[in-house]
Amino acid sequence: MLRPQNAWHVLVSLTFLFLLILVYSGKDPPQNINRISRNSSVRNINRAQLNLYSLQDDATMGKSRSETADRHLPLVQDPVICRYINNLTQKINKRSDSPFSAHIRIINVSDISTAHSFPGGHYYIYRGLIHLIKSEDELAAVIGHEIGHIAARHETESLSLGLPMGESPFLSGADYEYEADALGAQYARYCGYDPRGGIQLLTRISKLPFINTGDGPKRTPDVSKRIANLHQALETVPSPWPASSDQSAFLEMKRRLNELPAQSLNPDLPSFLDFNINTIPSPTKKKIRKRGQKYQRRHP
Ligand SMILES: [Zn+2]
Repeated sequence: MLRPQNAWHVLVSLTFLFLLILVYSGKDPPQNINRISRNSSVRNINRAQLNLYSLQDDATMGKSRSETADRHLPLVQDPVICRYINNLTQKINKRSDSPFSAHIRIINVSDISTAHSFPGGHYYIYRGLIHLIKSEDELAAVIGHEIGHIAARHETESLSLGLPMGESPFLSGADYEYEADALGAQYARYCGYDPRGGIQLLTRISKLPFINTGDGPKRTPDVSKRIANLHQALETVPSPWPASSDQSAFLEMKRRLNELPAQSLNPDLPSFLDFNINTIPSPTKKKIRKRGQKYQRRHP
């Protein structure tokens, strides 16, 4: 018979083993993307995810940050441009795995070429990135990529795993980028876009000597691995792939955008991208803060 101490050890070991399996089993690998259905409710891409946050936490955190961002960023207000980008985003969001509604804004800054998303479905795309985009397929890939980050709940997953607060997983987590690329290609495909749009855009970006992603111009990040990963992910995206779509609305949006005077970012912009734990009314808050502090002590 097991003595109480031994039973305790067995229980602790089993719990630990279970947590390890949870963490390392990962989410649906790209090989499984064939199983995507037009009805996204049949799969749960986060089923094996260790995430200490609730969906409501994601929504609360994102809402607070997007309100701050909206107050401080120069946003495009042109109704035709906003309607076009919003319609495209809603269309993709509907076919995605995201349980959140989608809110997108265009930041009227030409010399920055990136996109951001906040948990809970808040999306921002810089005008500079739209300048680099040459077709609706490519734009669908970018928006699909951002929705992929939010659907897979990358930020709260990363925080749950003990990464330091404020460190955006979007900038450092290569695996998150690959997953968002693969999800974005699937979503684009199911909305009637050529899923190779992401490859076309990344290939163009890889040939640029410099790109500004918000921290000043820097050498183009090594996107060759993302391109290779996307090629692999596309092998399992069901064919036939739609031919390129009608470009007239896309070109009209670009034309109007070109006519708008660009603005610049306020140099005293608050760091709205930082994670603010105080915005989350969660019972797990204390646990998460402790993990973050421990991580920062080990990685000064
Ligand atoms: Zn990303």
